[in-house]
Amino acid sequence: MILDAFRLDGRVALVTGGNRGIGRGFATALAEAGAEVVLLGRTGADVECDLATAGPAGIAAAVESLDRVDILVNNAGIIRRSPSAEMSGPDWDDVLTVNLDAVFHLCQAAGRKMLAAGGGRIVNVASMLSFQGGVGVASYAASKHAVAGLTKALANEWAGRGVNVNAIAPGYIETDNTAPLRADPARFAAISDRIPAGRWGTPEDLAGALVFLCSDAAAYVHGTVLAVDGGWLAR
Ligand code: NAP
Repeated sequence: MILDAFRLDGRVALVTGGNRGIGRGFATALAEAGAEVVLLGRTGADVECDLATAGPAGIAAAVESLDRVDILVNNAGIIRRSPSAEMSGPDWDDVLTVNLDAVFHLCQAAGRKMLAAGGGRIVNVASMLSFQGGVGVASYAASKHAVAGLTKALANEWAGRGVNVNAIAPGYIETDNTAPLRADPARFAAISDRIPAGRWGTPEDLAGALVFLCSDAAAYVHGTVLAVDGGWLAR
C-alpha cells in the first residue's frame, strides 16, 4: 500500500539543531512517522556537538558514537545580516563553517555508515537563497547555494549505492532565524506581499516533504532541491 511506503518505522534518524524552529518540527514529524530520532546539538541534545567548533574529527566522532544512522537531516544553520562592504571576517567564516563545512562533514561521516549498510537517506536544508542572492546576507546565500551543489554532487556519487541525497528549500518560515525580518514592518510587508500563498510558512508546513524524502516513497528521488515556499520561487 502506498501510504505504508511513507512510514519510517525502525529507522534511526539523526537531526541537527532539532531543539527549536524548523529542526524541532522535523524531529516531531520523523517521530510521528515511526523513526527513532536522535538530536545533535550544542547542549541538552542526545549527541552534544558544536558544529562551529567540532571540526571534521569532532563531527566524525559524534556520528561514530551511534550504532547506525539510516536518516540524516542537516538542519542546523545560522545567518548573519550585514551589508557586504562592512561584513566582518567572522560573519563570513562562522556561517560557512556551520552551514557548509559541517554539512559536508556530517554527510561524509553518516554517508560512510549508510554506504556500508547498503542504503540511507540524507536531507540537507537549503533555502530560497540557494536560488537567489537575498539582501545583506552574502555569507548565508553563498553557503546555501553551496548546499544545493553539494546535495547534487553527493547524489551523483551515491545514488547507485542506495543512498538518496536531497534537499528541502524552505520559503519564509516563522522561526528565530527570521524574527528580525518580521520585526521590521517594511521588510515584513514586502516579503509577505510577494508570497503567493499569502502567508509565511510554519515548521509544520515542511513536515510532509521531509517525511517523503526520508521514506521508501522517494526511492528514485536523488539530488533534488525541493522548494516548500508558498509559491515564492514561482513568482
Ligand atoms: P533557528 O530557529 O535559528 O534554529 C537553528 C538551529 O540550528 C538551532 O537548533 C540551533 O541550536 C542550531 N545550531 C546553530 N548553530 C549551531 C552549532 N554551532 N552547532 C549545533 N547546532 C547549531 O533557525 P531555523 O529557522 O529553524 O533554521 C533551521 C534551518 O533552516 C537552517 O539551516 C536555516 O538556514 C534554514 N532555513 C530557514 C528558513 C526560515 O525562514 N526560517 C528558511 C530557509 C532555510 P541552538 O539552539 O543551540 O542555537
